[in-house]
Amino acid sequence: VARRLRPFGTTIFTEMSALAQRTGAINLGQGFPDEDGPAELVEAAAEALRSGHNQYAPLGGVPELRVAIAGHQRRRYGLEVDPDDGVQVTFGATEAIAAALLGLLEPGEAVVALDPTYDSYGAAVALAGGELRRVTLRAPAFALDLGALEAAVRGVGAAGARQEARVLLLNSPHNPTGRVLSRTELEGVARICVEHDLIAITDEVYEHLVFDGAEHIPLATLPGMADRTLTISSAGKAFSFTGWKIGWCSGPPELVAAARAAKQFLTFAGGTPLQHAVARGLDDAERHTAPLAARLQANRDRLAAGLRAAGFAVAHSEGTYFINADAAPLGVADAAAWCRELPARAGIVAIPASAFHADPATAPTLVRFAFCKRPQVIDEAVARLARI
Ligand code: PMP
Ligand code: GLN
Repeated sequence: VARRLRPFGTTIFTEMSALAQRTGAINLGQGFPDEDGPAELVEAAAEALRSGHNQYAPLGGVPELRVAIAGHQRRRYGLEVDPDDGVQVTFGATEAIAAALLGLLEPGEAVVALDPTYDSYGAAVALAGGELRRVTLRAPAFALDLGALEAAVRGVGAAGARQEARVLLLNSPHNPTGRVLSRTELEGVARICVEHDLIAITDEVYEHLVFDGAEHIPLATLPGMADRTLTISSAGKAFSFTGWKIGWCSGPPELVAAARAAKQFLTFAGGTPLQHAVARGLDDAERHTAPLAARLQANRDRLAAGLRAAGFAVAHSEGTYFINADAAPLGVADAAAWCRELPARAGIVAIPASAFHADPATAPTLVRFAFCKRPQVIDEAVARLARI
């Protein structure tokens, strides 16, 4: 393995899902639903397979999907993107993130992201030869410190002569914390982006999965941001088809062109029948995603109550698949070690939050639980938690 990839090892999700398989434990680790998404989208995919949509897609993605993505951004957020030059379909959001960084960054340029950080960001920045600077969100509120964000952009506190960052890679709704950044926070972020002439890449894969009437606000909708923001999302989360790996980015043609320039040599263009099915889903996304968000919210509440009853200090989750719970009140000092014992002890797999932090000591006793599972599975997990 090349030196630039060695620090990243095997992902925590792969490790913990393998542990769940080996032990037969309930997997509340890796975030994937344990039920299929809408049957009509499975049918649309099958129909596309049967009707000859089985060759390479055009590089940008099948036209029906690009039009559906542009329509979704216009209807839902009032964002205008060109279906040809302003949309690029990718192999999941993961490829969109990597392609955007590979297509935009010069060696040594800095990217600022929130810490805890989704695991692919560090590796993608490293592959692109960039430098990752992180701004920590601290439990239990996980509020964004705009002063710390601006300092990271300017490179304050680091050794040597510091360059200003070129890119902000922002994730909201945020994995793993479950935070949905507020309008006030996003206005502060937008101000910093404009003042420091940053490109924003926004990971909005959980855009539909917000709870209690919370609003997801794309950064691109804020003043001064539409021309400097590449917005990323994915059908995996919106429609519960994480294995389809149909994602996309949209925004100004110059930014989309950069991602496309890299993407064409990573994977070129595939998943053609699935792209057709996702186009169908996006034409009327809320009909599928609103009931999903309601089910997830109910699961969140059930799991939160179970965790509280078991003695955890539970952080609030405003969106995503995830909730975080502090195991310190149970006498746990090292959640990473505790999570590795949990399958054998209690038949549950969860992820230590430290896996997402640059410095594991930032959240040594915090545990991330996924609630994107059937209600009876959540109930069984709660019953098991009551016995630990
Ligand atoms: N970003 C975040 C924040 C995620 O949680 C995930 C996956 N769970 C991804 C990106 C990757 O999305 P995809 O599976 O579409 O590549
Ligand atoms: N996004 C999922 C999670 O956070 C994992 C996806 C993956 O395994 N790459 O759990």
